[in-house]
Amino acid sequence: MTGPAADSPDGQARVRQGRCRFERCPACGTPTHVHPGIDGREIALQPGNHPAGLLPPRNLRHLSHGIVYPGADPREYGTARIEHVSICLSLPRPAHPVLAELWRALSLRAACERNANRR
Ligand SMILES: [Zn+2]
Repeated sequence: MTGPAADSPDGQARVRQGRCRFERCPACGTPTHVHPGIDGREIALQPGNHPAGLLPPRNLRHLSHGIVYPGADPREYGTARIEHVSICLSLPRPAHPVLAELWRALSLRAACERNANRR
């Protein structure tokens, strides 16, 4: 594995599949993991796993062999991935309470990162 994902500044990019790459969202600047979807288009996932049972089913994604599939993977013990666009800071805060909380947490993390970069 080479490239920026292996040494991303936030230290969260632990890329297991060669087809993933670390990329900052062009709209809000926060880190994402970009993978191909089943139709071949690139999908920016939010780094980390999220509680599948608390999120709207239509927002759930899972990875298999580096490809993004809709829905949660039953082998992931109740966690799932979400697309970055579900909580992108360039968009209004989501109406769903858990997505809204993830959006809020991401906005706090982005603010902390901006402050750290100013020092
Ligand atoms: Zn974004």
